[in-house]
Amino acid sequence: MSTETTVATAVDVASWMQEVASAVEAEATHLTQLDSAIGDGDHGVNMTRGFRAVVEAVDGSQPPGKQLITAGKTLVSKVGGASGPLWGTALRRAGRSVGDAPALDGPVLVAALDAALAGVVELGAAEPGDKTMVDALGPAVAALRAGVEDGGDLGEAIASAAAAAEEGARSTVPMQARKGRASYLGERSIGHQDPGATSSALIVAALGRALGPQG
Ligand code: ADP
Ligand code: MG
Repeated sequence: MSTETTVATAVDVASWMQEVASAVEAEATHLTQLDSAIGDGDHGVNMTRGFRAVVEAVDGSQPPGKQLITAGKTLVSKVGGASGPLWGTALRRAGRSVGDAPALDGPVLVAALDAALAGVVELGAAEPGDKTMVDALGPAVAALRAGVEDGGDLGEAIASAAAAAEEGARSTVPMQARKGRASYLGERSIGHQDPGATSSALIVAALGRALGPQG
């Protein structure tokens, strides 16, 4: 909780989406290389096209929950690959969880990302260890919750979530894919980092650059 001596902070959704768009664009070649190894090589293009469209569609003057729902709908309609419906559902569920809350402060953000993860799991049925975005998002949500429940600074909680997501993405290297296109490769999917887990870590890290004063 905030006190008179601390400035309460919250995530600005429009800034978050802009930061994600820049990050996936900057990493597009890398994401596509990862997807070329175990998929069809479109992940960098999918994410860049999707989040560019999100930046165009989101109106920063709207309440944060509405902005997230718009972002999710945009991803579903603009991205053909698995990542469009998955991240689209994630952001729509996050938006519904935020509801009419005026700001994405720590507790609202924890509930939103938890709902996002649940949406991904419901749609894609991936379990931890299946070598998907769930292996990055799951640890990120757990770390964020722990940081926020500790009552610490939201920026620090997000930093620990970002570190957990990156570690989660790296942990996919020795895994054998059991969901998505990479699962067709069977054992040959082992030894490569999952592209969706990698971009998910970028999305979590971008939260930290979208923090501002609450409300
Ligand atoms: P496509 O596989 O249709 O080409 P992308 O390349 O954009 O779509 O996205 C691939 C990523 O989507 C994978 O690296 C993985 O992280 C994620 N993914 C695929 N299927 C699932 C699933 N069932 N559950 C969770 N994530 C999934
Ligand atoms: Mg692909």
